[in-house]
Amino acid sequence: MSKRIETTCVQGGYRPKNGEPRQIPIVQSTTFKYDTSEDMGKLFDLEANGYFYSRLQNPTCDYVAAKICELEGGAAAMLTSSGQAANFYAIFNIATCGDHVVASSSIYGGTFNLFSVTMKKMGIDFTFVSPDCTEEELNSAFKPNTKAVFGETIANPALTVLDIEKFASAAHAHGVPLIVDNTFATPVLCRPFEFGCDIVTHSTTKYMDGHGSAVGGVIVDSGNFDWTAYADKFPGLCTPDDSYHGITYTERFGKGAYITKATAQLMRDFGSTASPQSAFLLNLGLESLHVRMERHCENALAVAQFLSSHPMISWVRYSGLEGDKYYELAQKYLPKGSCGVVSFGVKGGRKAAESFMKALKLGAVATHVADARTCCLHPASSTHRQMTDEELNAAGVGADLVRLSVGLESKEDLIADLKQALEQVK
Ligand SMILES: *Cc1c(COP(=O)(O)O)cnc(C)c1O
Repeated sequence: MSKRIETTCVQGGYRPKNGEPRQIPIVQSTTFKYDTSEDMGKLFDLEANGYFYSRLQNPTCDYVAAKICELEGGAAAMLTSSGQAANFYAIFNIATCGDHVVASSSIYGGTFNLFSVTMKKMGIDFTFVSPDCTEEELNSAFKPNTKAVFGETIANPALTVLDIEKFASAAHAHGVPLIVDNTFATPVLCRPFEFGCDIVTHSTTKYMDGHGSAVGGVIVDSGNFDWTAYADKFPGLCTPDDSYHGITYTERFGKGAYITKATAQLMRDFGSTASPQSAFLLNLGLESLHVRMERHCENALAVAQFLSSHPMISWVRYSGLEGDKYYELAQKYLPKGSCGVVSFGVKGGRKAAESFMKALKLGAVATHVADARTCCLHPASSTHRQMTDEELNAAGVGADLVRLSVGLESKEDLIADLKQALEQVK
């Protein structure tokens, strides 16, 4: 029975039977025991369901993947060791040497590097388009060898909002799936499958974990993309896999084809697997995700409103704030809120931003985002410090930009902290 998202956060995935543990058991075992080699052989041939080695699958990880699958409204899901691994697998599962992918230019820096440097070395080419591009500009980015389209619901750190329907319809017109990294929105604020997206990824390290305790990722497949309609584009899914005794994933697994292939081939060969301990911690975070996201949004909106009326602040970017460039898109895709991350400029540029951050008492300086404790980052003096002001502007990260990840503290205390820090700016 399909439940509301709040109920799924708490009780989705793992459903204990009579006398079984109420909390998800941590199955801390690399291997699983069988009576005969024939029994195990069936698992290797993907003829029977079961566990044999935790690099491929582990019950604790599968319970948590099943919960996230239900939260997104998907057909199948798998955990990975990190968000980076999730995005790499999501694309490498359907694109290989000689292929091409269209991606939004407004994405996480680590993902941009993965695509434009490391996957390029593997022979996969990316064309980056502005998330604000016209339909014509988007359509002209496709090539005959394009295998997927990629974007972020709310981009980290630019906070642009992706027009998921625009990107999905362009992808489908060219016979390829849309993959959306839904890390900042989480399924509590946006469920991309409802707008035509085909595959969702997350860095669970952020809001899903929510306490800065475990690095992880997840891939969820909606099961909606018809691979067999474009079988020539996706031979890995639609023709026999010699490394798995001639199994054709789409024939054997239907809506589970994409995730089964990613588990059977990519996890087998690359092994970026989640640990059962990390999956357990992630599940603790998921149990309160709906409550936390509501408070993150409420606090961030209050902070954004305070900052936008402060004389020391030159600009504020928060798509939940009326007048923001992405306000209309946020009303459509993020009606419950625009997450806890706000960015803004301090008048006086690099020096002013530095002295403002030094004066903050509650907001810790950290590269992390999206957890219970408020933290902030001044890219120009930390992650991007090797760049000149001109280079920073070209990258859309001005020297005055401060990224504030608003936590779950009292919003009155957070605003008072910002206020006293702004008074000390020299
Ligand atoms: C952090 C992040 C990633 C990378 O995830 P890790 O868990 O750090 O590997 C990918 N996408 C987005 C949007 C992120 O914020």
